[in-house]
Amino acid sequence: MSRVTPQHPAALGTRLEDALNADVWDVDDSPHIKVDAEKCAGCKTRPCITICPANTFVLLEGKVLHSYEGCLECGTCRVVCPKAAITWSYPLSGRGVQYRF
Ligand code: SF4
Ligand code: SF4
Repeated sequence: MSRVTPQHPAALGTRLEDALNADVWDVDDSPHIKVDAEKCAGCKTRPCITICPANTFVLLEGKVLHSYEGCLECGTCRVVCPKAAITWSYPLSGRGVQYRF
């Protein structure tokens, strides 16, 4: 039996973006993250936009929009959200991101 030891991307000289680009997703039809738009409307700091490593939050015409499909399942957005606007769970049935590094 052969065994492969995973290496950290930095050890391989790989940039973070390259490592993330190697990931694949089995997207669940049902969003595993839901964002309460009413709470977002009163949010001044919007830390989700800068903290999300997958850039899944964007500001468009003054509104914060979120797409769950490229989520890396780190959970950071839920932790930093000052208004508890994010309902978060893992995707069902092992779906979602599959890391390749
Ligand atoms: S931090 Fe929370 S409340 Fe603020 S814009 Fe992001 S999801 Fe909405
Ligand atoms: S869990 Fe992580 S990757 Fe997914 S949307 Fe939140 S901050 Fe972005």
